[in-house]
Amino acid sequence: MAEKKKFKFSYVLNVAKCMACAACELECNFNGIYIDDTANYAINLDNCTRCGKCFRACPSGAISKIEIAA
Ligand code: SF4
Ligand code: SF4
Repeated sequence: MAEKKKFKFSYVLNVAKCMACAACELECNFNGIYIDDTANYAINLDNCTRCGKCFRACPSGAISKIEIAA
């Protein structure tokens, strides 16, 4: 089994700030953004390459970059 790629940072989507504009979904080339079973946008971190396009595209600051402690 291939070892999963480890990232030093991640992106989180704050549903409370999200206005469901779909900009992140349109920007993502890796199926990293999906609508979860609560009908909110969410990030699939297994698909996410941490490219940051969703983070830069979000007009409401709902996506943040977080460092992952080693
Ligand atoms: S960081 Fe890039 S790959 Fe990850 S969800 Fe955002 S746009 Fe998609
Ligand atoms: S771009 Fe931002 S506000 Fe728009 S759907 Fe994505 S997280 Fe929500």
